[in-house]
Amino acid sequence: MLIDAHVHLDKYGDLLDQALQEIDQKRIFTVATAMDIPSYLELQKIGERSDLVLPTFGIHPRRAAEYADRLQEIGRCIESSPAIGEIGLDFHWVKDTNTYPAQRKVLDYFIAAASEQNKFVNLHTKGGEKEILELLEKYGVRRAIIHWYSGPMDILYAMIDFGCYFTIGVEVHYSDHIKEIAKAVPDHLLLTETDNPGALKWLNKNDEIGMPTAIQNVVNKVAELRQSTPEDITRLVHTNFSRLIAYDFQLNRFVSLFSPVSSLSRA
Ligand SMILES: [Zn+2]
Repeated sequence: MLIDAHVHLDKYGDLLDQALQEIDQKRIFTVATAMDIPSYLELQKIGERSDLVLPTFGIHPRRAAEYADRLQEIGRCIESSPAIGEIGLDFHWVKDTNTYPAQRKVLDYFIAAASEQNKFVNLHTKGGEKEILELLEKYGVRRAIIHWYSGPMDILYAMIDFGCYFTIGVEVHYSDHIKEIAKAVPDHLLLTETDNPGALKWLNKNDEIGMPTAIQNVVNKVAELRQSTPEDITRLVHTNFSRLIAYDFQLNRFVSLFSPVSSLSRA
């Protein structure tokens, strides 16, 4: 089964039905990350429409400033969510340095809660890579997916040592640095994502809406770079995601998808 470990399903608008159809037809397990509370509420509804969609609650660093004084409200959503994301820091694309203390406050709250409630996290790290690793170490959060890592190689290796998973996404088609990262991530920590529907549009400055099958193109490219085959990369990523969620009773609903039997009898 293909794994898309970072998607914004609530942003599909009129194309949502088509996206869900593709997810079901192509059997793409989809981690649907939220940007804020309204986005999470929407994702919960979308999640009811497919057995392959896992909605997760997070506050994106871009939205953190609006939520820095609403931690109780955030806390209630965290409790209701079986995993956490999208959360993180952005000191690169977010230019307003006044938001940085709020970003830190909100992220610290999330990581502490993830540690307490034993939930895996899906992290945006742009410009805050080192600080995020320190926070994961501080709270002992080992089940972390680093989404679209594009930072320095030394921090990448430190995160690898800590045991973080890495999603390689659509930028692998375009950027030499991402290609280098796609080759450097060890087999046991490799995952894939699209960051659909907006990532391709953002990268190419056009109107392209990323549809779920874009994950297959990512897999193909990663296979080429790692001198592997798409089938082997698919199997590897499936095994890795299975390990990430193994024994996580909060994700019981999905366990049958990731049992050894279902990974052997691939449709
Ligand atoms: Zn995202």
